[in-house]
Amino acid sequence: MLGTASQVPTRQRAQNGYLLRWDGTGLLFDPGEGTQRQMLLAGVAASEIDRICLTHFHGDHCLGVPGIVQRLSLDRVAHPVHAHYPASGREYFRRLRNATAFYEVADLREEPVHDDGPVATGDFGTLTARRLEHSVESFGYRLTEPDGRRMLPDRLAAAGITGRFVREVQRAGFVEVDGRRVDLADVSEVRRGQSFAFVMDTRLCDGVFALADGVDMLVIESTFLASEAELARHVGHLTAGDAGRVAAECGVRTLVLTHFSQRYTDPRCFSEEAAAAFGGEIVVAEDLSTIPMPKRR
Ligand SMILES: [Zn+2]
Repeated sequence: MLGTASQVPTRQRAQNGYLLRWDGTGLLFDPGEGTQRQMLLAGVAASEIDRICLTHFHGDHCLGVPGIVQRLSLDRVAHPVHAHYPASGREYFRRLRNATAFYEVADLREEPVHDDGPVATGDFGTLTARRLEHSVESFGYRLTEPDGRRMLPDRLAAAGITGRFVREVQRAGFVEVDGRRVDLADVSEVRRGQSFAFVMDTRLCDGVFALADGVDMLVIESTFLASEAELARHVGHLTAGDAGRVAAECGVRTLVLTHFSQRYTDPRCFSEEAAAAFGGEIVVAEDLSTIPMPKRR
């Protein structure tokens, strides 16, 4: 959690900024103003960034782009970095990318998001985007790891499969042991891929629920509390109670609340409000904290 404030940073909270470390892939979501320095404080190197994902072009979600882009070149980050953002904001991205003079050597590849659907696939799984409802075009993101298989030691032992035969059955899908055929399905079970969703500025809409459906971790804006529910609807934001209801309805495991309005001083109010609807784990994000993905089921 690099920053957890909405438009106005506070003494405790910088504007948005989130780095997801997903095995070997680093995804930087919505870098607001000051993200480069927050990365330093959090111990994150520019070379950890493989993808930059912007939900929309309000300043608190993208004013950190110039600093990050220039830092990628300054540090001579050798791998390509992909940038995903709503296609209607291409001109904003062009300006952010070229905000000042600098010596560009990094390989930054722009991949604007035009519509709902997958935006990238790789070892990390599939990154998909879904349209949200805000005052400007806004997309949320979801990362889904493919399902794998978990070997079952007792079944392997019962079938007499050890050593290189274990690798063989994983590779070929079956193995012959003492003239008997043993299939992979007999000695393993499906290991569900993990999933993550990132939902920023929006009012409740189908996209929110589609992104959050069954995810292990949902990072979601809860700009407001119920006392400002009317205002939230009006300006296209969620309350902590909305976030809790989404998490409950979608079967989320860990709910991470963030993007708080500066008007509130006690972060416990957010978790209490969300907990009224959602019985799972709730984290009220704090700057520079690290939140582990829940263990695999
Ligand atoms: Zn915002």
